[in-house]
Amino acid sequence: MTDDRRKEKVLHTRIPAALELQVKRLAEGLRVPVSNLVRNMIEDAITVATRMRDSVGQPSTTARRAAADHAELAAVYGWQPLTLNTTAPCARCGRSMVPGDDALLGLTDRPQAERLFLCLDCRPTPSPRRAPARKSSPRNPFAKEK
Ligand SMILES: [Zn+2]
Repeated sequence: MTDDRRKEKVLHTRIPAALELQVKRLAEGLRVPVSNLVRNMIEDAITVATRMRDSVGQPSTTARRAAADHAELAAVYGWQPLTLNTTAPCARCGRSMVPGDDALLGLTDRPQAERLFLCLDCRPTPSPRRAPARKSSPRNPFAKEK
Protein backbone atom coordinates (compact mmCIF):
# COMPACT_ATOMS: atom_id res chain seq x y z
CA MET A 1 0.00 0.00 0.00
CA THR A 2 1.46 3.37 -0.99
CA ASP A 3 1.79 6.29 1.41
CA ASP A 4 -0.90 8.29 -0.48
CA ARG A 5 -3.28 5.34 -0.38
CA ARG A 6 -2.89 4.97 3.39
CA LYS A 7 -3.67 8.70 3.86
CA GLU A 8 -6.99 8.48 1.98
CA LYS A 9 -10.11 9.34 3.94
CA VAL A 10 -13.76 8.52 3.42
CA LEU A 11 -16.04 11.52 3.03
CA HIS A 12 -19.77 11.05 3.53
CA THR A 13 -22.23 13.65 2.34
CA ARG A 14 -25.97 13.84 1.82
CA ILE A 15 -27.06 14.63 -1.73
CA PRO A 16 -30.49 14.84 -3.37
CA ALA A 17 -31.72 11.60 -4.97
CA ALA A 18 -31.83 13.27 -8.38
CA LEU A 19 -28.15 14.25 -8.10
CA GLU A 20 -27.22 10.71 -7.06
CA LEU A 21 -29.00 9.41 -10.15
CA GLN A 22 -27.19 11.91 -12.37
CA VAL A 23 -23.81 10.97 -10.91
CA LYS A 24 -24.49 7.23 -11.29
CA ARG A 25 -25.65 7.65 -14.90
CA LEU A 26 -22.62 9.76 -15.74
CA ALA A 27 -20.25 7.22 -14.14
CA GLU A 28 -22.00 4.44 -16.02
CA GLY A 29 -21.68 6.34 -19.29
CA LEU A 30 -17.99 6.95 -18.67
CA ARG A 31 -17.50 3.35 -17.42
CA VAL A 32 -15.75 4.50 -14.25
CA PRO A 33 -16.59 3.76 -10.61
CA VAL A 34 -18.87 6.35 -9.00
CA SER A 35 -16.25 7.03 -6.32
CA ASN A 36 -13.56 7.81 -8.93
CA LEU A 37 -15.92 10.14 -10.80
CA VAL A 38 -16.89 11.99 -7.61
CA ARG A 39 -13.26 12.28 -6.51
CA ASN A 40 -12.24 13.65 -9.94
CA MET A 41 -15.16 16.11 -9.96
CA ILE A 42 -14.21 17.40 -6.50
CA GLU A 43 -10.56 17.77 -7.56
CA ASP A 44 -11.61 19.63 -10.73
CA ALA A 45 -13.94 21.92 -8.79
CA ILE A 46 -11.17 22.77 -6.31
CA THR A 47 -8.73 23.45 -9.16
CA VAL A 48 -11.18 25.80 -10.87
CA ALA A 49 -12.10 27.56 -7.61
CA THR A 50 -8.42 28.04 -6.79
CA ARG A 51 -7.69 29.52 -10.22
CA MET A 52 -10.65 31.89 -9.92
CA ARG A 53 -9.55 32.98 -6.45
CA ASP A 54 -6.01 33.59 -7.75
CA SER A 55 -7.22 35.69 -10.67
CA VAL A 56 -9.86 37.70 -8.78
CA GLY A 57 -9.12 37.64 -5.07
CA GLN A 58 -5.36 38.09 -5.06
CA PRO A 59 -4.54 40.89 -7.49
CA SER A 60 -1.08 41.50 -6.04
CA THR A 61 0.25 38.13 -7.22
CA THR A 62 -1.50 38.50 -10.54
CA ALA A 63 -0.30 42.07 -10.84
CA ARG A 64 3.32 41.12 -10.45
CA ARG A 65 3.00 38.25 -12.91
CA ALA A 66 1.05 40.33 -15.43
CA ALA A 67 3.11 43.49 -15.27
CA ALA A 68 6.45 41.70 -15.29
CA ASP A 69 6.76 40.81 -18.96
CA HIS A 70 7.49 43.99 -20.88
CA ALA A 71 8.71 41.98 -23.89
CA GLU A 72 5.20 40.64 -24.34
CA LEU A 73 3.77 44.18 -24.23
CA ALA A 74 6.39 45.40 -26.72
CA ALA A 75 5.22 42.76 -29.21
CA VAL A 76 1.70 44.23 -29.29
CA TYR A 77 1.09 46.21 -32.50
CA GLY A 78 -2.45 47.31 -31.63
CA TRP A 79 -5.12 47.35 -28.98
CA GLN A 80 -8.61 46.18 -29.92
CA PRO A 81 -11.45 47.48 -27.70
CA LEU A 82 -13.81 44.77 -26.49
CA THR A 83 -16.14 43.78 -23.69
CA LEU A 84 -14.63 41.00 -21.58
CA ASN A 85 -16.49 37.75 -21.10
CA THR A 86 -13.84 36.36 -18.76
CA THR A 87 -11.75 37.43 -15.82
CA ALA A 88 -8.35 38.80 -16.76
CA PRO A 89 -5.66 40.98 -15.22
CA CYS A 90 -4.60 44.24 -16.87
CA ALA A 91 -1.17 43.59 -18.41
CA ARG A 92 0.10 47.00 -17.23
CA CYS A 93 -1.37 47.68 -13.78
CA GLY A 94 -2.49 44.15 -12.90
CA ARG A 95 -5.99 45.25 -11.91
CA SER A 96 -8.43 42.32 -12.09
CA MET A 97 -11.13 42.77 -14.70
CA VAL A 98 -14.35 40.77 -14.76
CA PRO A 99 -16.92 39.77 -17.40
CA GLY A 100 -18.71 42.89 -18.68
CA ASP A 101 -15.71 45.20 -18.22
CA ASP A 102 -14.56 47.21 -21.23
CA ALA A 103 -10.97 46.33 -22.04
CA LEU A 104 -8.39 46.33 -24.84
CA LEU A 105 -7.04 43.12 -26.37
CA GLY A 106 -3.40 43.21 -27.46
CA LEU A 107 -2.84 42.09 -31.06
CA THR A 108 0.50 40.49 -31.91
CA ASP A 109 2.10 38.57 -34.74
CA ARG A 110 3.11 35.82 -32.32
CA PRO A 111 0.73 32.86 -32.74
CA GLN A 112 1.75 31.34 -29.39
CA ALA A 113 1.62 34.64 -27.49
CA GLU A 114 -0.42 34.76 -24.31
CA ARG A 115 -3.49 36.99 -24.60
CA LEU A 116 -2.85 40.42 -23.12
CA PHE A 117 -5.59 42.76 -21.96
CA LEU A 118 -5.40 46.37 -20.79
CA CYS A 119 -7.90 48.16 -18.59
CA LEU A 120 -9.15 51.46 -20.03
CA ASP A 121 -7.10 53.43 -17.49
CA CYS A 122 -3.96 51.95 -19.08
CA ARG A 123 -5.09 52.73 -22.64
CA PRO A 124 -2.14 54.21 -24.56
CA THR A 125 -2.51 57.91 -25.31
CA PRO A 126 -1.26 59.55 -28.51
CA SER A 127 2.12 61.18 -28.08
CA PRO A 128 1.93 65.02 -28.02
CA ARG A 129 4.18 65.52 -31.07
CA ARG A 130 1.70 63.54 -33.19
CA ALA A 131 -1.15 65.92 -32.38
CA PRO A 132 -2.12 67.99 -35.42
CA ALA A 133 -0.49 71.41 -35.29
CA ARG A 134 -3.02 73.84 -36.70
CA LYS A 135 -2.04 77.48 -37.05
CA SER A 136 -5.42 78.66 -38.22
CA SER A 137 -8.81 77.25 -37.33
CA PRO A 138 -9.72 74.47 -39.74
CA ARG A 139 -12.59 75.01 -42.06
CA ASN A 140 -15.56 72.91 -41.04
CA PRO A 141 -16.81 71.05 -44.12
CA PHE A 142 -20.14 70.42 -42.43
CA ALA A 143 -20.83 74.06 -41.58
CA LYS A 144 -23.59 75.73 -43.56
CA GLU A 145 -22.43 78.35 -46.02
CA LYS A 146 -23.82 81.81 -45.35
ZN1 LIG B 1 -4.55 48.80 -16.17
